[in-house]
Amino acid sequence: MKVGIDLGTTYSAVARYDKASNKPVMLNNSFGKEITPSVICFLDDGDILVGEDAKDMQSNGTGVNAAAFKRNMGDGSIVVSFNGKDYTAEDLSAMLLKHLIEDAEKAAGEKIDEAVITVPAYFEDAQRTATKRAGEACGIKVPKIINEPTAAAISYGYKHSADKTLLVYDLGGGTFDVTIVRVTKGSIEVIGTNGNHILGGKDWDAAIVKFVCDRFVNEFDVDPRDDLPTKNELIVAAEGYKKTLSIAESVTIPINYEGCSEKYTLTRDEFESMTEHLMNATKEVCEDLMDSLGMQWTDIDEILLCGGSTRMPGVAKFLKSFTGREVVTHSDTDLAVAKGAAITAELYSSNATGMRAAMQVSDVTAHSLGALSVSQDGKKYVNEIMIKRNSKVPSTCKKQFSIKPGNMTDKIEVYTLQGESRIPLDCNVLAKVVITGFYNDGKGVIIDIEYNYDENGIVNIRASQGEEPLDVKSEPVPDDIRWMGGDPHDKPSDVKIAKNIAICVDLSRSMEGEPIEAAKDSIRSFVRTLSDEQTKFSLIGFGDKVKVVQELTNDTDVIINSIEELKVKMLGRGTDASPLDTARMVIGGQPGVGIIVVLTDGIWGKRDNAVDQALGCRTDGITIIAIGLGEADTSFLRQIATVDDGALFTTIDKLGDTFGTIATAISAGNMGLAVR
Ligand code: ADP
Ligand code: MG
Repeated sequence: MKVGIDLGTTYSAVARYDKASNKPVMLNNSFGKEITPSVICFLDDGDILVGEDAKDMQSNGTGVNAAAFKRNMGDGSIVVSFNGKDYTAEDLSAMLLKHLIEDAEKAAGEKIDEAVITVPAYFEDAQRTATKRAGEACGIKVPKIINEPTAAAISYGYKHSADKTLLVYDLGGGTFDVTIVRVTKGSIEVIGTNGNHILGGKDWDAAIVKFVCDRFVNEFDVDPRDDLPTKNELIVAAEGYKKTLSIAESVTIPINYEGCSEKYTLTRDEFESMTEHLMNATKEVCEDLMDSLGMQWTDIDEILLCGGSTRMPGVAKFLKSFTGREVVTHSDTDLAVAKGAAITAELYSSNATGMRAAMQVSDVTAHSLGALSVSQDGKKYVNEIMIKRNSKVPSTCKKQFSIKPGNMTDKIEVYTLQGESRIPLDCNVLAKVVITGFYNDGKGVIIDIEYNYDENGIVNIRASQGEEPLDVKSEPVPDDIRWMGGDPHDKPSDVKIAKNIAICVDLSRSMEGEPIEAAKDSIRSFVRTLSDEQTKFSLIGFGDKVKVVQELTNDTDVIINSIEELKVKMLGRGTDASPLDTARMVIGGQPGVGIIVVLTDGIWGKRDNAVDQALGCRTDGITIIAIGLGEADTSFLRQIATVDDGALFTTIDKLGDTFGTIATAISAGNMGLAVR
């Protein structure tokens, strides 16, 4: 039997796909409950309790308790030491999974051999890999790890097939995730995701504990939080009061401590206003995501609530008030993730081809993937982003690595990083791999390195020299990586890397007059600035058609003369054609790096097509820089640019400066093309 497992921070759930009813169904635990607390308790007598029983122990303080260990997933830290044994989050997750599986097997009366397990979208490589291993430690296959919000959208999209853009708002016990998804008949496409992994229902519980304890301190001058067991009891109880406030207008909270006792009343209104900053924190995460995608609330059709904490009535109320969007509340709030995983488990099974064809799912990566490189001035290490965040997975990026003549090294060390900062130590150092087995005759070597996010969001690296695949071995990341913040010992290579630059110019009618003249002037000086033996240029015009005005050449005069051939409207009046495929063909297969600079002043006819072509360029390791004038559309240009800051907006009088900036970046090896 195949199941889907929502391995939550606070609660977990298991579902299977019922072929008879064509619906996902929950597999209840041995208490007959759909969700099981993600808690493990180590008792003094050596017994280990998991789930419901362990949660009971949590409040009365017996034994050693492990809860919310998902927060430490994949970091290798020891969460619990008991009876001389150390347990990491991965070990504890394996124990929890084993318990969930056993209960689910009892409920279904069938053995489980495969499970799709869900993780928060922002989980990094190590956390995903650890989750997969925890599942495999239970003796089952884990064919796929999927993102929780994607699973929720699948479960929703499976029932509703209308074309919609959904914002999945997932507020769980310890995490907040927001994901924007396109649901159409038969397909679910994740557009982008963002999260805050230290924000969740626990923070609302903590607000209640603070509310009552602050009052208690005022009144009796003793703080119940000073005594750990009392504090734990209060935290567990607060969760109950919080749930009561989801159905009642007020709740009465008794406290007894050091002989003093009192009752406090908390109304829902008070609760909502004292936790407003938490709601605002979720709003920030949503808006941050929409900004980065160039979207607005009006682009969202519905907000899909997910995660137990969205049961708080304040959540939907808050969201409605500032978004003006429809907020979908549904009974499946904390089951949708497990159900979506169950559907996926079925989707990926080999004997359900009919269903696989019936639904396509595509997801994105929550973090940019970069490689440790040396800045062109040789003074510091930088994170060179290879695959931008919110790229569709699987996603691949190829980059070249050069070894300069005279350097006889037989191995290359590659460090991969996950994060958005250019400063390596602000990112998470994912892995170290060592590439060996290449041929080095001391005359300079070029190695192709391929970075790949697979569909589970796990990173893989391959390398080749020409057609020959090379050995790539993982090594542990050294404990001390402070050197990444320092001065690189090796000076960067002074070998010039060949550059192939295709300049694509919009020739639609709106470029008539001043714009085209400014463009020609700017391109002339751009070419002069960059021109050298190693740099080839090509000139491409586009409108309703595309024309290669000049093939690649490193002859400056030839390329400068060809600029004169650019005439507005010579390729039609509009911009129905994307020049990217043509540019890719012109510069593809050339040694060195490929760069496409696109100048446009309008909105293109076939944008999806252009975005697909841009993805093709990215796959070939070609960098696209997009310059927008006038009417050009911000979000579209960001989509086709393959590097951050690769979309530049400017005006006619600043166009020369903009081209100048790009020339500087290209010669400094920035714009994602620094190789070393
Ligand atoms: P996770 O996926 O992080 O484990 P869940 O989605 O299961 O979390 O949500 C658990 C959180 O939801 C807990 O903080 C719990 O207190 C909260 N929760 C569950 N039911 C309710 C409710 N009726 N009212 C308010 N909060 C609730
Ligand atoms: Mg959850």
